[in-house]
Amino acid sequence: MRKKLVVGNWKMHGNLVENKQLLDALVTDQTELKNAQIAVCVPFPYLHSIKENLRQTNISWGAQNLSQFDKGAYTGEVSASMLKDFGCKYVIVGHSERRALFGETNQVVAEKFIAAQKMGLIPILCVGETLEQREDGLAEKIIEEQLSVVIELAGIDAFDKSVIAYEPVWAIGTGKTASPQQAQEVHASIRKGLRDKNREIADELAILYGGSVKASNATELFVMDDIDGGLIGGASLIASEFISICRAIK
Ligand code: PEP
Repeated sequence: MRKKLVVGNWKMHGNLVENKQLLDALVTDQTELKNAQIAVCVPFPYLHSIKENLRQTNISWGAQNLSQFDKGAYTGEVSASMLKDFGCKYVIVGHSERRALFGETNQVVAEKFIAAQKMGLIPILCVGETLEQREDGLAEKIIEEQLSVVIELAGIDAFDKSVIAYEPVWAIGTGKTASPQQAQEVHASIRKGLRDKNREIADELAILYGGSVKASNATELFVMDDIDGGLIGGASLIASEFISICRAIK
C-alpha cells in the first residue's frame, strides 16, 4: 500500500521569525495530521533551525537542491553529506525552476539523484512539460525523456527509494492547476512506463502532483488512483492552507 505524502517547497522564501510561526502552527496541529506523511523542503540556511524545531515531531524536512559532487572546489555548492548532517530526509531534484533558470539538464539532474541516494537521502525527482510542449502533444514524450536519463544512469532499482513529482510547468505558481483527470492520466502513464521495467517498484512508488495545489483543490486531486500526494509551493507558506492540504490526504 502506497503511503500518501505532502511536501512543502518553500522556494526562496521565509526568515527565522516567519519560519518559526509557520512551523509552530504545523506542529500544534500534529495530532490531527498523524496519518499523513509530511515534509518541508526549506532554503539551506534554515536547515539548522528546522532540525531544532521539527526533531521531536512527525514532520520530516529536506532541501530543494544539492550538488552532484561529493566535495571539492565547487564554490557555493552544498553536498548530499552536508544535507545529511542537518537531518534531511528528502531533497528535491530537477525542479523546473532549476532546469529553466539554472540550466540543469536531464544528465545533471540524474547525477544529483544519484548523489542524493548515495548518502541515503530520498530524492524527489520533478518532471513535467511546458505549456507549449503540452499543446504540441509532447507531454508524455518529454516526461519519458526526463525519466529515462535517470533510469539509465541510476537503474530502475534506484526508484525503490525515491519519489517522483509530476509538475506541469504551466501549473507552477500560475494558479492554473491540472484537472484531476489530466494529472491522473500523466501519473498513470508514468507508473505504466516504470511498471514495464519493474512492476513492484512502480506499484510502491509515490508519485506526487505539484502545480498550484490549494486547500480548495487538494482533495479532488489526492483521491485519484495514481496521485499519492502533492508537492506544494505557494500554499505551503500559509499555515492554514498547508494544514488543510495535509488533511486532504486522509
Ligand atoms: C512548486 O514549486 O513545486 C510548486 C508546485 O509551486 P506552486 O504550488 O506554487 O505552484
